[in-house]
Amino acid sequence: MTTELLGKSIIGYGRSEASAGLLYGNSATTGERLQPAYHSATNEETARAAEMAGAAFPAYRAKPARERAAFLRKIAENLEGLGDRLVERVVTETALPEARVKGERARTCGQLRFFADMIEEGSWVDARIDRADSERKPAPKPDIRSMLRPLGPVAVFCASNFPLAFSVAGGDTATALACGCPVVVKAHMSHPATAELCGEALMAAAQSTGMPEGVFSLLFGEGTRIGQALVAHPAIKAAGFTGSRTGGLALVKTAQSRPDPIPVYAEMSSVNPVFVLPNALAQRGAQIAAGLHGSVTLGVGQFCTNPGLVLVPEGGAGDGLASALAEKLRGTAPASMLNATIFKSYSKIVTTRSGDARVRALVAASNGERTASAALFETDAPTFLKNPDLAEEMFGPATILIRYGKFEDTLDMVRHMEGNLTATIQMAAGDEDAAAKLVAALETRVGRIVFNGYPTGVEVCQAMVHGGPYPATPDGRTTSVGGRAIERWVRAVCWQDSPVELLPEELRDDNPRGVMRIVDGVRGR
Ligand code: NAP
Repeated sequence: MTTELLGKSIIGYGRSEASAGLLYGNSATTGERLQPAYHSATNEETARAAEMAGAAFPAYRAKPARERAAFLRKIAENLEGLGDRLVERVVTETALPEARVKGERARTCGQLRFFADMIEEGSWVDARIDRADSERKPAPKPDIRSMLRPLGPVAVFCASNFPLAFSVAGGDTATALACGCPVVVKAHMSHPATAELCGEALMAAAQSTGMPEGVFSLLFGEGTRIGQALVAHPAIKAAGFTGSRTGGLALVKTAQSRPDPIPVYAEMSSVNPVFVLPNALAQRGAQIAAGLHGSVTLGVGQFCTNPGLVLVPEGGAGDGLASALAEKLRGTAPASMLNATIFKSYSKIVTTRSGDARVRALVAASNGERTASAALFETDAPTFLKNPDLAEEMFGPATILIRYGKFEDTLDMVRHMEGNLTATIQMAAGDEDAAAKLVAALETRVGRIVFNGYPTGVEVCQAMVHGGPYPATPDGRTTSVGGRAIERWVRAVCWQDSPVELLPEELRDDNPRGVMRIVDGVRGR
């Protein structure tokens, strides 16, 4: 495995030999242009990567689960093998602190191993068997068997805010490769060298574990050109995306305009409301202010789960929470953001909010030339309900407090709220009835409800849901984190009266892989 940076797309097992122009990464802290230059993939190369993925699909999906699992584990091993070189480059390109980058690398490798274990165990395929009954009257019952099968090549758009865990070898790639789908990755130009190092690790893993060429490609270039071309290419059968609502919706539109529309699983924007109930406020106001401060400023607020709306009762205890949070935010050192575009968007929205007569700026934005400072705004429930634009995501270390006079206002706000990834309820003894009403209302509006915690920090485990109704995602039935994330890239296929030798192993009577199945309505192995 070479770790020399070449600045060229990876297409199958080769490197790009053409160029549609040069792009550069930048130091997130100083803005300095970094070497090497990255050659933007040509349209022909983009098409070739998609076609190679299509050609690799039959051989790749036929690979036994244990071989795909070995491939995923080898990717993790190679990523770890990059050592400090990878960590240093991520820190330079993103300004994320070293400890966070190391943690994110551990999470990325953990995800790859999690899905390797899951496919080796095998029950995720949801095998169902309804055996034939030739004696059934008035008509004999056929033998029907079904299980989940891979869709085909997937286009993955890397996230700027997770340069490892939602980038080249991140969750979308891990889940697609796990279930048998080749992947073509569109790198995020906010961290191109990080992408190249991870791409090389992935390509080397594919080669050394005997995967078909084309199972993975990595393209550098502009989203509006190569990203659009990828999603429009007939060989691509689904796409995964994390980023802005504008970018996500542009890709959804392209995908739906194809002669054969395909799904785009886009994680776009979320403001993650936190509901502070009166007894929790009375008992733990200062503690909640400290927890909120940690969550709002974590990673310079550049998390899709950042708590961007906090609903707090009116009155003295609520005022205390507001001033404690304001004091902590005022004392938070300004910090570099992931890239100049994100910094500019953050500066623009917090500056506009600071001069907005509909809100009070408890901590006004005072950004440096390149560093973002925390901001805190406050308004009342009636104003917020009349002005839905106040719920717009401020991607960065900022939040808005909505002061409510009566509990019913919070239910009104849930009714008017857009879909979100998470909602959080801070509750204590005496808040149970209110919490139950909130939970009933929130269940249709968010993907995950957090109790007495904070929304940042997304555990990778079987039960996690990191998705939510529009506009958190275009399709609120899915998640991009956790065991169910694999379900985005599969569909159920059914075999009726099939000869046994034509059935996948999971659907054979002797169940050679020993997977959990539903046979004639009974779940078991
Ligand atoms: P982005 O601008 O949406 O870009 C994400 C990826 O999509 C990039 O690879 C980009 O390529 C591509 N892309 C963008 N527009 C496209 C289009 N019309 N067609 C095809 N591909 C397109 O997101 P970002 O750069 O990560 O951040 C921008 C803003 O998005 C942030 O300020 C923040 O507001 C929001 N954001 C939200 C979350 C969240 O989880 N809620 C996460 C990250 C960002 P190019 O870079 O080449 O254009």
